[in-house]
Amino acid sequence: MSELDGFSSIPNSPNSREMKTLFGPCSAESEVQLLTTAREIAQKFPNNIFRAGVWKPRSRPGAFEGAGDIALSWMQQVREETGMDIITEVATPKHVEAILKAGFKHVWIGARTTVNPFSVQDLADAFKGEDIHIYVKNPINPDVGLWVGACERFQRAGISKVFAIHRGFQSFESSPYRNAPRWELMIDFKTQLPNVPVICDASHISGTPELISSVAQKALDLDCDGLMIETHINPQVALTDARQQITPDELGKIIGQLVQRNSDSSSEGFHRKLLELRSRVDSIDDAIIQSLIARKRLVEEIGVYKKANHVTILQIRRWEEILMRQLQNANKSQLNTEFIKRLYELIHEESIRIQTNQFAENLDVNNIN
Ligand code: PEP
Ligand code: MN
Repeated sequence: MSELDGFSSIPNSPNSREMKTLFGPCSAESEVQLLTTAREIAQKFPNNIFRAGVWKPRSRPGAFEGAGDIALSWMQQVREETGMDIITEVATPKHVEAILKAGFKHVWIGARTTVNPFSVQDLADAFKGEDIHIYVKNPINPDVGLWVGACERFQRAGISKVFAIHRGFQSFESSPYRNAPRWELMIDFKTQLPNVPVICDASHISGTPELISSVAQKALDLDCDGLMIETHINPQVALTDARQQITPDELGKIIGQLVQRNSDSSSEGFHRKLLELRSRVDSIDDAIIQSLIARKRLVEEIGVYKKANHVTILQIRRWEEILMRQLQNANKSQLNTEFIKRLYELIHEESIRIQTNQFAENLDVNNIN
């Protein structure tokens, strides 16, 4: 495997750097579907790693579950004919055995597997010491610990290279996305495992072709290391995820319009300016903490006073007043009101926690309500 496997550069990008691409259909349906899709993708992105689900996890039995073992030989054919490397999903040690026999050098772990540490450990044991690149999708639920933990299980099994795939999180709130991106959770993951590259699966986040380009651009702006995008020669007749797949031509257009920014710049002027701006941000952060300390002291003083006068901790009118006042401030100064609301809810929650502790001192807990 060459160092450049799976890396494609984005055309039209002044600061172009290589990024990993995993393009290909949702599932392996037939030999013709795989080969015709692969040929078109390879023409545009010869270093792409060609994806296709050989075994598909479906909610209900009876739905198309990928062509299964026979598709392994179609995938091998794609590799031989186009020169692209190939990747599929594995969910059981039996899948692992089959893909190792077929010579796969890349696999992904699906979101429905990452949720289960028993399954992940079984896979890590099956892969122990193998020369393989494993891409770990985030779990369906917004639990970064499970995602980090799954990567660690593979790292501990001595896997040559572990990557992460951000595919969004199931949410019950209404949203234009199939799976809410929750970018802050992707950033949390990167903070915990800075050496694990993160690929953005723009298709499963979007759920529809129209959103793919903005999701992919956002991922690049947040310094993601690559993209997974489901691409099908004829999405309309796709047997799985028909609504979100795009044609190789559409893929070419979307990728051609992305702007790639470098995670750093070598210009000295850039560094000097950035340093100056960052030191000003640091001073403001220090001032925020000083203000929170001063606020906490006053909250404690009020707590003593409430307790002495047998008054409840929660004063709902006062809370409404605080919130309203700061939302008006935010509005005037064009701060995002949703952000200020969440911030003040946190601050208020902390004040209640502080006063609850004060009320509980000397086991005098009867006054809390
Ligand atoms: C897929 O990549 O086709 C897939 C099933 O993804 P996920 O596990 O993210 O749902
Ligand atoms: Mn899919």
